[in-house]
Amino acid sequence: MARQLLGKEVNAKLNEEIKEAAQALKEKGIVPTLGILRVGEREDDLSYERGAMKRAETLGVACRNVALPADVSEEELIARIEEMNRDETIHGVLLFRPLPPHLNEERVINTLLPEKDVDGITDASLAGVFAGKECGYPPCTPSACMRILDHYGIDPCGRRCVVVGRSLVVGKPAAMMLLKKNGTVTVCHTRTKDLPVVIKEADIVIVAAGKAGVVGAESFREGQTVLDVGIHVKEDGKLCGDVRFDEAEGIVEAITPVPGGVGSVTTSILISHVVDAAGKRA
Ligand code: NAP
Repeated sequence: MARQLLGKEVNAKLNEEIKEAAQALKEKGIVPTLGILRVGEREDDLSYERGAMKRAETLGVACRNVALPADVSEEELIARIEEMNRDETIHGVLLFRPLPPHLNEERVINTLLPEKDVDGITDASLAGVFAGKECGYPPCTPSACMRILDHYGIDPCGRRCVVVGRSLVVGKPAAMMLLKKNGTVTVCHTRTKDLPVVIKEADIVIVAAGKAGVVGAESFREGQTVLDVGIHVKEDGKLCGDVRFDEAEGIVEAITPVPGGVGSVTTSILISHVVDAAGKRA
């Protein structure tokens, strides 16, 4: 049976680090604060918002929420972001996406100052990831994947890594981060031929396809580490990932479960970025 790489084990250490750093800032009179900007009432946004607020609270980070109607104008939304940019008591901003289609997402996102872009969504933050330079913050989900690998002492250096998915939120930055750690990286997508053959060659696999159970036994072999980024709600209300966990568990060496894997670490990474941003301001 595969070893389960558990978000709660990674978070136990990460959350301690965050709490300590937040406490040290408080002693200097600074309360690390996350501004949360939500447009509309999408259920998954609301659920992530609740989770982030709860995690922030337990770690000593304050939240300031702004909820705007789904038909908000682009100018109004940009004005709110500019307000948060100016507000010295807000150290990081979480802006939910996708935005409603009448809004120019690229223009809106890039209004945010990179130093407050704790979710890694601006072009400047992404450029930092691709150039290997510190600019803004890297996206939280691939950062969570790297933290999980670090925590369990799984070093991509010299190993074959496959990332399934090439989104700017997960797949592409994950590939860049693995490359930075000297992995030999292949990025797969919907046009990849013989996906199971490609995945089987990898020592480390990150699956971020956004399709429930799209990867299973046919793609795995002994000795692999599998990080499953996907999150889906099944008909029975339970969560599952992009990987058919039951099949993979009996084959691979280590795997993240869903729920309880990458997702829970992602939230802590977001909060750690807020504390880091507050520290830089201090
Ligand atoms: P996305 O924007 O839909 O991108 C999916 C990527 O997977 C695309 O590049 C697509 O290829 C590729 N793909 C789709 N089906 C495939 C298949 N059958 N074979 C090979 N490649 C395939 O999704 P995303 O935003 O990256 O998110 C991916 C998953 O992660 C989703 O389930 C999402 O809910 C989850 N997620 C989790 C967290 C977390 O914290 N755990 C955070 C963010 C997202 P093409 O480019 O060719 O279309």
